[in-house]
Order: sequence, then structure tokens, then C-alpha cells
Amino acid sequence: MAREKKGNQPENPYAAALKMLDSAAKKMNLNKNIWERLRHPRRCLIVSLPVMMDDGSLKIFEGYRVQHDYSRGPAKGGIRYHPEVTLDEVKALAAWMTWKCAVVNIPFGGAKGGVRCNPKEMSRSEIERLTRRYASEISIIIGPDKDIPAPDVYTDAQVMAWIMDTFSVAHGHSVPGVVTGKPISLGGTLGRKEATGRGCVFTTLEAAKVLNMDITKSTVAVQGFGNVGYNAAQIFHDLGAKIIALSDSQGGIYNSKGLDPRKVLQAKQKGSSVLDYKEGERISNEELITMPCDVLVPAALENVITLKNAKKVRVKIIAEGANGPTVPEADEVLQGNGVFVIPDILANAGGVTVSYFEWVQNIQEFFWSEEDVNRKLGEIMTRSFKEVLRMTRDHKITPRLAAYMLAVGRVAEAIELLGLYP
Ligand code: NAD
Repeated sequence: MAREKKGNQPENPYAAALKMLDSAAKKMNLNKNIWERLRHPRRCLIVSLPVMMDDGSLKIFEGYRVQHDYSRGPAKGGIRYHPEVTLDEVKALAAWMTWKCAVVNIPFGGAKGGVRCNPKEMSRSEIERLTRRYASEISIIIGPDKDIPAPDVYTDAQVMAWIMDTFSVAHGHSVPGVVTGKPISLGGTLGRKEATGRGCVFTTLEAAKVLNMDITKSTVAVQGFGNVGYNAAQIFHDLGAKIIALSDSQGGIYNSKGLDPRKVLQAKQKGSSVLDYKEGERISNEELITMPCDVLVPAALENVITLKNAKKVRVKIIAEGANGPTVPEADEVLQGNGVFVIPDILANAGGVTVSYFEWVQNIQEFFWSEEDVNRKLGEIMTRSFKEVLRMTRDHKITPRLAAYMLAVGRVAEAIELLGLYP
């Protein structure tokens, strides 16, 4: 499959991630030493991964695991396979995980991993060999009490199963708690697959209450039709909202009468893209972002809402399913135009929240029903949304700055209590 374009890349992703930390720190008058510590990830591991390809040639891939902060508990964060992964991107994603875990108040720090590779051009066995070698190289810093990976872009439950197996073989016993987002039969939790999309919907429902909007009468556009995008679309659809546009890396489809995400998924599974669903007009990813509708869910990659297109975004709510879809400068334009942006560290925190539930269930060796998982997820997402909203109103700031202030405050409190060693 053709290599995809990864949105616009206006600046170094870690520099962008630091901007939000700096804004929050300034506004909160954060202790300078803690602020400085938070600007530097605690650990960055770079690994070189020699992999035997199916044709007998040897290829070296570069991989990363970054632990941004683990003051509040073990580090937590997904693993991304993508041809454009860089250390700075992984550092940014790891920092976002720190804030995300803190904003929903679960006892984890932030981490992220990535391997620069194009999984779409690799066979399953090549991906397995790459995954096992990567798992083995990063095994020195991961573990149920240290750092717990999960899926991210182009990694899934099967990749987690290979990581769990590689780690378990090295330890001589099964260690399910080393990863989350595993298959259910290996100790995965019910509800994890849908959790990030479901969390987006829970927070959108809260934002809709603030705006006096009825979601059942709303129109929704979703960019990215993977784990997050598909599940968000399908849950919105089940609530009665009209999904008017969907897209993936190859482009998008639009239908003013509404699209059924399950049917679109079937067409994508038979072919390769949402474009294989014929009951829609073709649109570009750029057109989807600026499509007039009530709710926009960017659920693909970073930097898709920029200064170039922000003024043309004509929606009431943006629920950031993806990490970092809006560049910080564009946020101000959106705010000026009255768009309610549910920031990524809140909107997509449902995934890590249910990953936390999975880890708890693995440690307790006691499993919950799907209803329990979804109910507890709803409680955490709703409570967190309300806390962010209160901060937004109290300080007359954007929900993003409010979410950062809440998160940075919680991490700073933990750092303060732990002190500085030596
Ligand atoms: P995924 O691999 O399941 O799906 C990604 C989707 O985005 C695919 O449909 C792909 O075709 C599409 N895509 C890729 N490049 C694109 C482009 N340039 N334009 C439009 N679409 C493009 O990944 P995912 O797990 O759904 O993750 C999506 C986003 O959500 C990422 O930013 C990820 O970091 C974030 N996220 C994921 C989770 C999770 O639980 N999976 C949790 C929190 C945040």
C-alpha cells in the first residue's frame, strides 16, 4: 500500500508538546525546578532492531521507548509502528501520556514507544519478528510495575500478544500485566477495543450538555477509521447521531443522509479503504476537516488542524480522538470561532483508563463484566470532564489549558512529595 502523508508537520512535535506544558506552568506559577524537570523525559531508549526479512535479507529498524514521568505510578503508553516515527514524536506522545493519566487521575506516569517501519509493506511474520526483537530490546525497562505498553497506530492486540509472550518467555512464567490491549483470551479486558472511542463519546455528550445540543439530532464527521475512529463513529451512530463523513489514509467519503459505520467497515475489510464503500461521495481528508457539521472527531494523526485550515472549521464540538491533532496556535482560532474543543488528553483518555482497568484485573486475577467496565469508564470520563470544565470557567481559559493545569498540578504535587534524589 502506498506510503501515506502524515498531515502537515509545522514544527518539532516535542517543541509543540512543551508549549502546552509551558503555558500551564506559567499560568499556575509552577515551581521553577519542577517545571524544568517536567520539560525533560526521564528515560529515552533508542534500539536498533535487526530483522530477517522473508526474502532472506537483513533489515535494521530503529525503535524507541520513552518514559516521560513516573512519579504517579508505573509509566504507561502505546507503541506506534509508522514510517515517520521519530524520537521527538515519541517524546511528545510520552509527555501527553503523563498529562492524560493525570487528567483522569489514574495512578500511572507517561511513556510511549515507536518503531520506524511501514507495517503495510511487511508480512505478518516480518511484523512478528520485528515485534519480538523490539520487545526483547525494551524488556530492560518495561514490566507490570515499571512501564506497560499498549496498542497505538498500526499496532493491535496481536502485537501485544507477541510482546507478552516474548517477555513471559524471558521471565519463565506468564506475565499478562506487562501489556494492555491484549486479546481477551490472554487476560485482556472486555471493552478495551471500544474504550477510546467510547471515551470520546462520553466527553462529547458532556460538551453537548454545556452547549444545549441534542446529540441524537447531530451530524458527525470522523477522520481516521481505525480503532478510535471506527468505534467513536459506531457508538455515535448507535446513539442516533448522523455520521456524514468518514475517512482513512486513502481519503474520505461523504453522505448527507448518513453512513452506517458497520457497513463501511465491512466494505473496508473486503477491500482496503473506506473508499471501497460505494454509497458516498469521495472527499479528501482536508475537506473532511472543514466540513460543516456539529461534531468533528479527528482520530488519525497529529497536526491536521493548523493555522491554514482552522478558520474554515465549521463545527460546534471537536473531540480529539487522536493525539495532538490541533497545533496550539490553531486552538486560539477555534476558540475565537466558538468551537468547543475537548482536548486530546481528556477526549481520548478512555483508552488508557480501560487499560488501567485491564492492569488492575490482571493483578487481581479477577475479571469484570463489560457493563462494569463501561460504567466505571463513564464515571471517570464524566468526572474528569466536569473537573476540566470547572477549571475552564474559574480561570476563563480554554479547556485545553484547563486540562493541562489540572494534570500538571497533580504531577507536580507527586514530584514535590517524592522530593529530589539525592
Ligand atoms: P489505527 O491504526 O487503528 O487507525 C488509524 C487510522 O487513521 C486508520 O484508519 C488510518 O488509515 C488512518 N490514517 C492514517 N494516516 C492518515 C492520514 N494521513 N489521514 C487520514 N487518516 C489517516 O490507530 P488508532 O489506535 O485508532 O489511533 C488513532 C489516533 O488515536 C492516534 O493519534 C493515536 O495516538 C490516538 N489514540 C489511540 C488510542 C487507542 O486506544 N488506540 C488511545 C488514545 C489515543
